[in-house]
Amino acid sequence: MNILLLGSGGRESAFAWKITQSPLCTALFIAPGNAGTGAYGTNVNLNVTDFQGIGNFVLHNDISMVVVGPEEPLVKGIHDYFLADEKLKAIPVIGPDQEGAKLEGSKNYSKAFMRRHFIPTAASASFTEHSINEGLAYLETQKLPVVLKADGLAAGKGVLICQTLEEAQAELIAMLGGKFGEASSTVVIEEFMSGIELSVFVLTDGHSYKILPEAKDYKRIGEGDTGLNTGGMGSISPVPFADEAFMQKVENDIIKPTIGGLKIDQIHYKGFIFIGLMNVNGEPFVIEYNVRMGDPETESVIPRIESDFLNLLLGVAQENLAEKELKISPKTAATVMLVASGYPGEYLKGNPIAGLDNIRDSHVFQAGTVSDGSEIKTAGGRVLAVTSVQDTMFDAVQQAVADAGRIYYDGRYFRTDIGFDLL
Ligand code: AMP
Repeated sequence: MNILLLGSGGRESAFAWKITQSPLCTALFIAPGNAGTGAYGTNVNLNVTDFQGIGNFVLHNDISMVVVGPEEPLVKGIHDYFLADEKLKAIPVIGPDQEGAKLEGSKNYSKAFMRRHFIPTAASASFTEHSINEGLAYLETQKLPVVLKADGLAAGKGVLICQTLEEAQAELIAMLGGKFGEASSTVVIEEFMSGIELSVFVLTDGHSYKILPEAKDYKRIGEGDTGLNTGGMGSISPVPFADEAFMQKVENDIIKPTIGGLKIDQIHYKGFIFIGLMNVNGEPFVIEYNVRMGDPETESVIPRIESDFLNLLLGVAQENLAEKELKISPKTAATVMLVASGYPGEYLKGNPIAGLDNIRDSHVFQAGTVSDGSEIKTAGGRVLAVTSVQDTMFDAVQQAVADAGRIYYDGRYFRTDIGFDLL
């Protein structure tokens, strides 16, 4: 099979690494990819939302499956684009259609989905410009802190946790007034949940499902999970508190009603479901759905999958996922993200990266990198993910941190405390 993978981050590097290990893979193309993905296949200079360009490439290169990494093409309807085209509709796209992608694209939609299918989540209500007074009054009835969420995609910035009523009311007015543009023209006001977060990943063909390894990510820039929010500074899989009893609750109370709900709602869903969960005193509650894998969770999840990953994706495409094997390693994977100085604000680019050959017992998944002649240079805020898989969490974390330290570029920064809260 010739495969086209869309995306350019560490997540796509991990996908590419795993897909090319499959005997089913003849050739892999990555659009647009990064300097690292070029080692697994051929990078193609195409934008992930250029559906026409992607369609033409698929037809001219005998592609038999398109694997979508990021959410944007899904939310913009790449799956529907393929289904609507006579020549492309036979080519499977791994990722939901536009209706399914609303589970990530609209918080209002996903909250309504959860309510309709009795999936445990924080109580909430949604408001628009027309119901702003009701929203302000609703806030007066809420306990503090209270959570305000822009309905649409806001580059991970659309969630505010407000400590006072005055702050919450001012933010509601600002959000409905366009603080996050169109994304906050509807605002979801949500009860605050206190607990520990984890991410659960499900692969579904629309009928059956497989639960992939769970993970925990570390969102903030500073040690001890302090400072600004980032795309993610590291991850760990498995998560010790997600024991068998907890995961059984997740499966029964959340995964089964989610898959069942998609069927009841006649949503054509073939792909990944990333369930952001809060463990509140041992009970799982959904914080959010994403319609793709997480980054940097994928860099810890994929190395623990021992089965043929492409064969699992083929099971999604052919709707026989139930017949496929999913074997998961009991070892722990720890991922440390190397970022650029200044990230998540303005950051430096174009710095040569040294030391990629010095790694002892980790795998490097490149993210924001470009090739420049014989050099690899930084090209993004999150530059490289270093993942180590070891028998114990302690060893995995130590090894990933040690190997991260063997890589060098101007302005290199990484957290050394990934997973410490779990040890
Ligand atoms: P979301 O984009 O919905 O995942 O929210 C981003 C982050 O905000 C989450 O990862 C949580 O850390 C936090 N958060 C969101 N909703 C809640 C909630 N209801 N209670 C507490 N924290 C929340």
